[in-house]
Amino acid sequence: MIPPAFEYLRPNTIPQAIAFLLQYGDDAKILSGGQSLIPMMKFRLARPSHLIDINRISGLDYIKEEGGYLKIGGLTREAELEHSALVREKYPILFDTTHVIADPQIRNMATLAGNLAHGDPANDHPATMMALGAEIVATGPQGERVIHVDNFFVTLFTTDLQHGEIVTEIRIPTPPPKSGGAYLKLERKVGDFATAAVAAQVTVDGQGVCQKAGIALTNVGATPIKVVKAEEFLRGKKLDEANIAQAAQLASEAAQPSSDLRGPEEYKRGLVKELTKRALVRAFERAGK
Ligand SMILES: Cc1cc2nc3c(=O)[nH]c(=O)nc-3n(C[C@H](O)[C@H](O)[C@H](O)COP(=O)(O)OP(=O)(O)OC[C@H]3O[C@@H](n4cnc5c(N)ncnc54)[C@H](O)[C@@H]3O)c2cc1C
Repeated sequence: MIPPAFEYLRPNTIPQAIAFLLQYGDDAKILSGGQSLIPMMKFRLARPSHLIDINRISGLDYIKEEGGYLKIGGLTREAELEHSALVREKYPILFDTTHVIADPQIRNMATLAGNLAHGDPANDHPATMMALGAEIVATGPQGERVIHVDNFFVTLFTTDLQHGEIVTEIRIPTPPPKSGGAYLKLERKVGDFATAAVAAQVTVDGQGVCQKAGIALTNVGATPIKVVKAEEFLRGKKLDEANIAQAAQLASEAAQPSSDLRGPEEYKRGLVKELTKRALVRAFERAGK
């Protein structure tokens, strides 16, 4: 399939990219990994007049801990996250997530920033970012704006990003000691989008009592869903079988799945319940129960 014609622009700096976005208006789009945008253009689901390729902008490709955050640059690829020792050791939920996205060829190109900016509820990173309480740094004509992930996803394929803004960094608060997380996804075959998936991140005290929980769901609604009721339920409670089962029940009630080729609504609710249970158990183990 051949995409419709477009003008190709290749800025070398962020201000140049922002200027192009403002100059060419709503019909201009940022191109990063191209792994969502180009397929959509080929299917004629997107017809941008101008593509602004940000891949030549330097200084946006990094993974580092700084100032109480894990900071990930706007051009950091999935493959870099997947192979980062820091991510594997200290942010296993992020490793779980990146590792189940598409296939290695796609992960070599696709970026975390693009995964979030695309606003697709089937994408895997949004739920993980919600479980981790991440912040998204958007750079635009007025400078930097920090958007908490809870306010980022507005509806299907729509985020809080304003025209002229580029995601330049994602910040994940460094979890305190005795924290752990896990991302569990059921897919029809390797490389597929999730039938449903669950991200869970917990912090416990020395007695195994939950101090903080982050739980969010993939592909069971128009946006990723943060399961606030389950998070609040777990706070101050032991992560035992009964409490985990109750949190899983709350997660399945929060899901808003629709029946489609990946399965009927009831099946997806049951799946969310089971995946939440398993993700919490694994997160608790990783927290060092
Ligand atoms: C076969 C296939 C299977 C896939 N499977 C999965 C999967 O299982 N799970 C999953 O999560 N994803 C999956 N993906 C999607 C893939 O991870 C995408 O690459 C990702 O969602 C978008 O990242 P990108 O860097 O490629 O963005 P692009 O495709 O370049 O851009 C996507 C959108 O985000 C905007 N954008 C990109 N970067 C920025 C930025 N820095 N600032 C502002 N706006 C920006 C673009 O303008 C565009 O609207 C799959 C893709 C394919 C082709």
